Amino acid sequence: MPRTLTIATLGLLFSALAIGADYDVVIRGGRVIDGTGNPAFFADVAIKDGRIARVGRVEGSGEREIDAKGKVVTPGFIDVHTHAENIARIPRAENFVRMGVTSIVIGNCGGSESDLAAFFNRIDKKVAINVASLIGHNTIRRAAMGGNFDRQPTAEELEKMRGMVEQAMKDGAVGLSTGLIYLPGTYSKTDEIVELAKVASRFDGIYASHMRSEGAGIFNAIEELMRVAREANIRAQISHIKLSGNAMWGRATEVLELIERARAEGLDITQDQYMYTASSTSMSTLIPSSAREGTLEEFRKRIGDPTWKAKLIEDMKRNLKNTGRDSYAYAVVANYSKDRSYNGKNVPTLAKEKYGSDSLDSQIELVLDMHVNGGASGVFHGMSEDDLTRFLSHPNTMIASDSGVREPGEAMPHPRGYGNSARAISRYTRELGVLRLEDAVRRMTSLPASAFRLAHRGLIHEGYWADLLVFDPATFGDLATYDKPHQYATGLDWMLVNGVVVVDRGEQNGALPGRALRHAAASR
Ligand SMILES: [Zn+2]
Repeated sequence: MPRTLTIATLGLLFSALAIGADYDVVIRGGRVIDGTGNPAFFADVAIKDGRIARVGRVEGSGEREIDAKGKVVTPGFIDVHTHAENIARIPRAENFVRMGVTSIVIGNCGGSESDLAAFFNRIDKKVAINVASLIGHNTIRRAAMGGNFDRQPTAEELEKMRGMVEQAMKDGAVGLSTGLIYLPGTYSKTDEIVELAKVASRFDGIYASHMRSEGAGIFNAIEELMRVAREANIRAQISHIKLSGNAMWGRATEVLELIERARAEGLDITQDQYMYTASSTSMSTLIPSSAREGTLEEFRKRIGDPTWKAKLIEDMKRNLKNTGRDSYAYAVVANYSKDRSYNGKNVPTLAKEKYGSDSLDSQIELVLDMHVNGGASGVFHGMSEDDLTRFLSHPNTMIASDSGVREPGEAMPHPRGYGNSARAISRYTRELGVLRLEDAVRRMTSLPASAFRLAHRGLIHEGYWADLLVFDPATFGDLATYDKPHQYATGLDWMLVNGVVVVDRGEQNGALPGRALRHAAASR
């Protein structure tokens, strides 16, 4: 037989075999960390029609065979605290993909899409990873209360907000979020939140809160969250748990004790955390929210009044002192669109450049000037590693990035968007030994899936969706730093989302199998 014919025959034979394969994909010989927190075990994992078909010794063949010898196989990571609404515009979401995230929850800190049905339709099967969403309190309060927010809603406005939460839950939201340091939610009283949380509770949603304080007022803030959980009969999540400002450092144990007392009372309170001692939000949060009420135009007018401005400066100095600081050196500009040369520099450095002085008055002048000119995002170095590891040691702490989809090279964002979940393994498992690998995986898989009711996700069990990772636990890790944030995590060999390969031998292949994860209650 001519040689060419032999090769052609073999080719035909192989395609015939592929058509007759028992499974779509078989991952062979890996160490399976199934997401429960139980010890790893050796097994093959077979996938068919998007789901995990078999875990154990797999005799049949896969159309695609993945050799996982020397690697671990885990469920894809679930990142419950993100601000990645921009996935609609950047569907590859490579920063999430490369750090092992296969599902995200958006709509956090009170800000969400207002029409979730439309948003879900826009992204379903058109993005790389799965997306669930909360409905944001600030979003609906703004829509229901017109332009004037420093007040309680009328009965009619509250009814309108209730209706919006109900519609969002019917459209598949996984719960309600608040951002109580942000406008306009900061003006709401607890009663308003309880009323809205009751609606989310009827649909088995969760209440996730960026609390009123993460510094001196944190104990009162947790009491408020407990009241919402108790009176609305709802699961509650403390978003990005932390202790901000040196004045509060060392009190993580007290915070955890308060949460434990609440749990002993029967309240289902959990928390998430990112793996960094710096936070990130708008630089304008350095200015008291009461001073920022209304439009930017109104703020510009008020700041022209010397008496009003002098009082504001006094307030800012007092607030700073209350956090145990005497300078804004901890605050670094991440993105100031008016002048990108600011990005990556801290407030005193910029004050010196702009005004020739880094006095506190010049620093405040700079903060106000950026706000007047459209605002900036910032990175704030305000936590202690000791508190971070204490929070991380608690078994109910999930690991979540607080990030959006990143665009390589764009501004100087917090590195968490590129590294967070990988860092949980490289730094807090491998280097510092705060968590066992199996436990770190549980905090990013079955724990968040259970708290946010993401059905059939977060475990390597037969019948579950095949969101899977294959990586070498000795090399998987984060590279992004504060100085060089635009670096993908390294060491992820394979990722499957809904059974479809998204990362193939370390490279993202452009597949977009991600789905809208509508809350199970929505289809009832
Ligand atoms: Zn937040």
